[in-house]
Amino acid sequence: MDRSGSRIGIFGGTFNPVHFGHLRVVEEVRQAFALDEMHLVPSARPPHKRAHDIAPAEDRLQMVRRAVRGNPHLFGCAYECRKEGPSYSVETLAWFRRRYAGAELFFILGWDAWLEIDTWYAWRELFHLADFIVISRQGRQPWREVSRERLFPIALKDVFCYESETCYRYRSGHRLHFFAATRLDISASQIRGEALAGRSLRYLVPESVRKYIEAHRLYCG
Ligand code: ATP
Repeated sequence: MDRSGSRIGIFGGTFNPVHFGHLRVVEEVRQAFALDEMHLVPSARPPHKRAHDIAPAEDRLQMVRRAVRGNPHLFGCAYECRKEGPSYSVETLAWFRRRYAGAELFFILGWDAWLEIDTWYAWRELFHLADFIVISRQGRQPWREVSRERLFPIALKDVFCYESETCYRYRSGHRLHFFAATRLDISASQIRGEALAGRSLRYLVPESVRKYIEAHRLYCG
């Protein structure tokens, strides 16, 4: 479909389960970058997370879809969790590129993930497919606090041109933005812990997600 002129954000994660911390960050990024759509993409089975407390990908997708219901800008994307084999961000971005021809794509990732991006599969390709938005928590602005060398993973140290304190440009023309967003003190592991202990998940996750977890007896051991 031709989506020339649209600005589309892509936010990947385990979302095990999705919670208000994720949703708040997505809302702030969407607003700050005037994105028309923001797609939350649950990963299939992340290699670095323990398998036993990961809910099935389909459940994580259903929870994301319930969490964003009612917000016309947010979407839960099935691509990674329904695809065969491992999921690489470069393939996900290429899929979005094909699906939303002409749109401007923005790939959102956390500061920690950014500093390791040169270990990702085909990472150079990533910067030919989308702009990047690197999130740090509100009140922390590493781009002010650390030297240029420490702002970029080693392999990427010399490949971006400075445009402003929070914006750099790659030779493909795609940009890298640094952005500070609210980080609510909530994590999916904390939520799984509460569920396992039989305690309430109210006000940590949207009601629709809480009910889904209860109805499907997720995270209860
Ligand atoms: P877990 O506790 O299981 O490690 P998590 O809550 O960190 O999970 P992920 O699905 O791994 O959730 O995170 C997806 C993305 O959301 C990551 O980029 C992560 O940094 C970010 N994120 C997670 N929790 C928050 C939060 N409370 N506020 C803002 N961003 C968050």
